[in-house]
Amino acid sequence: PGTSLAVLGHPIKHSLSPAMHNAALAEMARADSRFSDWRYHRFDIPPDDLPAALELLHRKKFLGVNLTVPHKILAFDLVAEVDPAARPIGAINTLHWTPAGWRGHNTDGYGLATAIRETLARELAGAPVILLGAGGAARGAAVECLQRRCASLWIANRTRANLDALLAALRPLAGAGTIPLHGFNPATPPDGIPAAALVINATSAGLRDSDPAPLDLARLACRPAGVFDMIYNPPQTRLLAQAAALGLPAANGLAMLVHQGVRALEIWTGKPPPVEPMRRAAGQM
Ligand code: NDP
Repeated sequence: PGTSLAVLGHPIKHSLSPAMHNAALAEMARADSRFSDWRYHRFDIPPDDLPAALELLHRKKFLGVNLTVPHKILAFDLVAEVDPAARPIGAINTLHWTPAGWRGHNTDGYGLATAIRETLARELAGAPVILLGAGGAARGAAVECLQRRCASLWIANRTRANLDALLAALRPLAGAGTIPLHGFNPATPPDGIPAAALVINATSAGLRDSDPAPLDLARLACRPAGVFDMIYNPPQTRLLAQAAALGLPAANGLAMLVHQGVRALEIWTGKPPPVEPMRRAAGQM
């Protein structure tokens, strides 16, 4: 009975997704009783158990699943179909049960672009972007920037080999060279970065208070337009503190978390969900 949704991760107990989605569903149920028996659960699933878990959730008639660390890449090869926009990312965070089986989507890029619009009043389209990191989150962010046709993309990463692998994967998406794509060492930012770039942190540097900033903003030759840090816990990273000291518009990753969830719930319900209850449940000011 009822329609079930869930987030799978390992660990999972600190996930804000159940509170966000159940708050939105409660409000949707007030306007439309079809949503009154929809519930969103959380399950701690180690990576080896993911295939069996997806099979079991289907047998239990779950309609949708969110995936978080460490499942986003693993699941890519387990689903029946992947949304074309998510294919170049190689990772999915939202599954929707369809007659063909589980269909994978990636709503993190939508979450990022919407959060930057909301918190920094900027668009990725047409903007020079400085992206920090070359892991999974950076790949998703880079694909979103290129799909939205940013003006240029400057990617910095501590480990050169990981940066080179990401640049090679992105090159076919860079509009046959019409979107300039550059890599650099974060210790030595090049002079060619244009003014008014958007800085996006997609490294995990900042998750611990002792972490260094992934880039010293004061070393940039040109003043950026704003700084978006995907990290939301802690809410203030060293990078965001530097941005504040320089008087730059800046935001943490909470709005991204909220909007990736908004898009996922829209995929499952077919309706734009109310954002405010999700924001309140996530603790976004
Ligand atoms: P990965 O492990 O795939 O990648 C980590 C990246 O961070 C690599 O580029 C790595 O560089 C870099 N890095 C790690 N430690 C340091 C350090 N001390 N100094 C400089 N660079 C460092 O992680 P993900 O891509 O999955 O996640 C990255 C971040 O994005 C996490 O903090 C995560 O919480 C956040 N995130 C937020 C979301 C949101 O909704 N707000 C959604 C998804 C992710 P190297 O190659 O040199 O090792």
